[in-house]
Amino acid sequence: MARERNQRHSQMVAKLKEKGFRLTPQRLAVIRILASSDEHLSADKIYERVRGGFPSTSLATIYKTISVLKKVGEIMELGFVDDSNRYDGTRPYPHPHLVCIECRKILDPSVPALDELPLQLAKKTGYNILHHRLDFFGICPACRKRKTQG
Ligand SMILES: [Zn+2]
Ligand SMILES: [Zn+2]
Repeated sequence: MARERNQRHSQMVAKLKEKGFRLTPQRLAVIRILASSDEHLSADKIYERVRGGFPSTSLATIYKTISVLKKVGEIMELGFVDDSNRYDGTRPYPHPHLVCIECRKILDPSVPALDELPLQLAKKTGYNILHHRLDFFGICPACRKRKTQG
């Protein structure tokens, strides 16, 4: 897993270099956080973490970096109507998500049937499927436990 994350980090850096984007220390910090976390962080959370190392960073810098990474296809944005957008830098391609409605934790569930779904759909309908959005909402085990205890 650690190796995979290092790879994501170098891939993201290489892609920005190739496209001619400047790599400021703040930008590199955002990349490091997104490449090493599968928590699906919001811009605010990324901002908090970057500020630990670079106190003068602005939220605008975070948004700018996110939009650059989105443009080059190195992160995936997950929009929600009732919550802030979240970002996945470890898997920058469409994949299913499992969202806890209590603590807003987001997981990448790994179920073979789900992975096969886009392929099966393409086969059945003749569509060239470009991307998809598949979210499951529920209550995570930790929140369920807290509820039964509360
Ligand atoms: Zn939860
Ligand atoms: Zn994800």
